[in-house]
Amino acid sequence: MHDDLIPRRDIQFQLYEVLDAQGLLQRPRYAEHSRETFDAVLDTATRIAVDLFAPHARLVDEQEPQVVDGKVVLPEGVQAAVRAYCEAGFLSASADEAAGGMQLPVLVTQACLSVFRSANVATTSYVGLTASNANVIEKFGSPVQQARYLQALRSGRFFGTMALTEPQAGSSLSDLRTSATPRSDGSYLIKGQKIFISGGDHELSDNIVHLVLARLPDAPPGVKGISLFTVPKFHTDEQGRVGARNDVALAGLIHKCGWRGTTSTMLSFGEQDACVGELVGRPHEGLACMFHMMNEARIGVGMGAIMLGYRGYLASLRYARERVQGRAPSNKDPLSPPLPLVAHADVRRMLLAQKSYVEGAYGLALYAARLVDEQRTESDPQRLQEVALLLELLTPVVKSWPSQWCLEANSLAIQILGGYGYTREFPVEQYWRDNRLNMIHEGTHGIQALDLLGRKVVMKDGAALAAMHRVVTANIAEALEQPPLVPLAQALQTAWQDVSDSVQALRVPLQTDGEAVLANAHLFLEAFGHTLLAWTWLRQATVAQQALSRGTDTDADESFYRGKLQAAQWFFRWELPKVAPQLALLRTLDDSHRAMQDAWF
Ligand SMILES: Cc1cc2nc3c(=O)[nH]c(=O)nc-3n(C[C@H](O)[C@H](O)[C@H](O)COP(=O)(O)OP(=O)(O)OC[C@H]3O[C@@H](n4cnc5c(N)ncnc54)[C@H](O)[C@@H]3O)c2cc1C
Repeated sequence: MHDDLIPRRDIQFQLYEVLDAQGLLQRPRYAEHSRETFDAVLDTATRIAVDLFAPHARLVDEQEPQVVDGKVVLPEGVQAAVRAYCEAGFLSASADEAAGGMQLPVLVTQACLSVFRSANVATTSYVGLTASNANVIEKFGSPVQQARYLQALRSGRFFGTMALTEPQAGSSLSDLRTSATPRSDGSYLIKGQKIFISGGDHELSDNIVHLVLARLPDAPPGVKGISLFTVPKFHTDEQGRVGARNDVALAGLIHKCGWRGTTSTMLSFGEQDACVGELVGRPHEGLACMFHMMNEARIGVGMGAIMLGYRGYLASLRYARERVQGRAPSNKDPLSPPLPLVAHADVRRMLLAQKSYVEGAYGLALYAARLVDEQRTESDPQRLQEVALLLELLTPVVKSWPSQWCLEANSLAIQILGGYGYTREFPVEQYWRDNRLNMIHEGTHGIQALDLLGRKVVMKDGAALAAMHRVVTANIAEALEQPPLVPLAQALQTAWQDVSDSVQALRVPLQTDGEAVLANAHLFLEAFGHTLLAWTWLRQATVAQQALSRGTDTDADESFYRGKLQAAQWFFRWELPKVAPQLALLRTLDDSHRAMQDAWF
């Protein structure tokens, strides 16, 4: 089982060789740490993930959460796993030391989370949501709210949720109806229905703190009239002590295609007109507060997709090495021994495609995590602004590209296992089902595409794209100094130019006929995502090439770096060429699907 979790060698490569995690130690916030402490927490994460998360990953798929006597019952193993996670301090791994946290870089915390996610994505969701919830309360909560909830959330005594979606308001949060009526004591009566709320009910913690979006009576229509509230399952006093039940009722559990281990709930707030909540932040500014949580959550979604892809890749690699079948096309002797699957070129193609998707995407997601560290610790205002722009630009891609392409990796893993891959006797079909969620939640794929093309690349007169341009061109220049990488660097230069030219060409149409451009926003998400993946591969290839030029100590290291170079080459030859025709099509403003009439379907 341990062999199939994300390999430590790749984590080390990404952290220390590509992303310079040690460079973060220069910053006062992280000065108390060292590579040894980073490695020690990764060791602890691996131990808990292997011993307590991985063993029930299948069980939570087979035994969905159930309601028994009004309580949500989860399969055995979940409680012990999340308790060990909390006791080891992972819930507050990157929180301030003064607040009881470990003050680890977000980069290292995300690397630890990737270990847990690769072991069991569904169980990790409970703690992931709780950490994000605590971050929102820390940033926007009043001192009283912080006293009530923060320590309890950071220690895992309470867990948290994000409750946005309503039956009639999914992608369109402007249509939210849940209401918040002020009471004389400064609290609010909350009333409404929420659907699909992950971790919305369970017995894993003493309390559940829901962060609920609702409207005040005087709220303007649309997203500018949405406020944020804490709504605990149990009333809580200012020392964090739990009292009577609040009026939050579990209206039902949702039965899903995958990701079954995380409870998905329909929640009723205020059925008895007695659901009490408290405003977080300022009235009508709830969405901005919630986005603070959602941006992190979106990096988390991307990371979950990558880890499911990674698991499928490793499982299919192991299978392809063990299963023998067929002979080389040139071998006509039926009595000769059959070959392992991995010897067949088409199987290697599918393995290399998976490797290029998952390891490339992992590099991108960890790059975004490192930007969060820079955002927390940078003192130069100009650099700070640049980092914020980069994060805004990259977030929809970090969420969406892995959701699409690491799902494709899972499909390839099933293909490699052939008929066995399609059965429930092997784990790869579960990875695909689990992963299929990621294009849907935290803003669907289509909505992310609209955000990227309609807002992010053109905002502030293209400042975010310009910031990314500086990063990409610096890495191209570095790669051009390595002769074997010149073709890759040149190919990325061409693709990046094409992206920039296309955005430039679409600038006016976006203003004059935005709907025509945005009708094909998905094309841009894909083309831009592929270009960024090529960029992360160029970075990884540069490091690998430098290491090989210096000479490696072991055969395993030599193979590791050669594998990186081969995956980079594959991505550049097979995937990056897809970008130019996509951008060309985008620039035509093709209206085939937009012009299609409802009656013609
Ligand atoms: C397992 C699971 C867990 C979830 N967890 C949570 C949670 O913890 N908290 C929470 O609040 N929510 C949660 N959600 C809800 C999730 O965020 C929503 O399902 C998602 O935002 C989409 O909303 P919807 O399902 O209503 O789909 P819809 O909004 O109806 O969208 C359906 C389709 O139409 C497209 N579409 C919609 N509007 C547009 C538009 N303007 N332009 C172009 N295309 C459009 C979408 O892209 C999508 O393909 C969860 C959902 C699931 C399935």
